[in-house]
Amino acid sequence: MIKANNPNLKSWVEVPAHSDFPIQNLPFGIFKTRYLAPVAGVAIGNHVLDLVYLHENGYFDGLGLPVGLFNQKYLNDFLSLGKSRARDVRERISELLQQDNDELQANRAAREIALIPMEEVQMQMPVRIGNYTDFYSSEEHATNVGTMFRDPKNALLPNWKYLPVAYHGRASSIVVSGTPIHRPKGQIKLPDAELPIFCPSRKLDFELEMAFITCGETKLGSSISTKDAEDHIFGFVLFNDWSARDIQNWEYVPLGPFLGKNFGSTISPWIVTMDALEPYRAKGPEQFPHVLPYLAVDGEKNFDVMLEVLIQPDKGETTSVCRSNFKYMYWNVNQQLVHHTINGCNIQDGDLYASGTISGASPGSFGSMLELSWNGQRPLHLTNGVERKFIEDGDTIVMKGHCEKEGVRIGFGECKGKILPAL
Ligand code: CA
Repeated sequence: MIKANNPNLKSWVEVPAHSDFPIQNLPFGIFKTRYLAPVAGVAIGNHVLDLVYLHENGYFDGLGLPVGLFNQKYLNDFLSLGKSRARDVRERISELLQQDNDELQANRAAREIALIPMEEVQMQMPVRIGNYTDFYSSEEHATNVGTMFRDPKNALLPNWKYLPVAYHGRASSIVVSGTPIHRPKGQIKLPDAELPIFCPSRKLDFELEMAFITCGETKLGSSISTKDAEDHIFGFVLFNDWSARDIQNWEYVPLGPFLGKNFGSTISPWIVTMDALEPYRAKGPEQFPHVLPYLAVDGEKNFDVMLEVLIQPDKGETTSVCRSNFKYMYWNVNQQLVHHTINGCNIQDGDLYASGTISGASPGSFGSMLELSWNGQRPLHLTNGVERKFIEDGDTIVMKGHCEKEGVRIGFGECKGKILPAL
């Protein structure tokens, strides 16, 4: 049992009811303020705990952490220490924040420097992402897309239940929540037209996903087994894989996604550790036909994370358009990472692996506008009579996620982005 996950723990830092960041969460991120360059922090209630201050003032003595570990604009060096060292740091932070611990609580000056109100910080990219892979692991999503784009009778391609399908994406255009995205331009071939045209996308979409971030580099030529896979999964973020369906539809054959995807993806800023999600493990869907032995896993490898997508038109009211759950994934993160390295592909600290769109079985749980509006055939009705087939300029898309059990709520904060007109 990870001590920091004890549901009975209480912090001396005030944590409002329904906060995403109780003492049982303690996610890691990178923040800056008017006075501080980007540094590492941990979220607690409505505050950010400055890890540089704690490290420099002896609160992590005995953990053997390298000098300057947290005084950096990315968490990559921290991740390179491996999961068990990161666990020690999270356990120590938990200790310092517990209500019966006086070390920081009783030192008013230290407390006031170390705890910064969230409204005073600006969250940054938590890691320097070297490599980004996007899976396609929700059976419901793959079936919906296959039905619309190809053939309802053969919606899933023959390989789909044998391996977690994926493509290598673009790392440079992944941005942190709050960063606006311009509508992409590209080649589109309209259904009745003979030739393609070049114009702004008319079918701009979101994809509701989660992504895991790896730690513990491996050597080129080596593989990760299902037994060891979770030692390399540091934590999770929410992920919006913005997609231009019309560009995608014309370009994707035969090599897969390209400009319909690489103009931007948004992540939530706090990395919720896999350790913090331990109490929320869930059984995944039954896998049949049986997977090949190298993909066979024991126990619960899915996670019960409730997900939601909201749309806010410019100056308009927010409407919730989708509720889904990470536990619906057919292929779990363990199998995704194992499959990724089975050919000898190496992984690096800070790589990002997205789940693919997370759709459930009911229409209200579909994780993209493509599915929710069934490729524009059934417009969505938002608050105040507003309709949407796809995303319009000025719309803000917000994704949220949280786990809840025994009165403890572990949340991910927000993954938010506004669409601006094409440049
Ligand atoms: Ca995707």
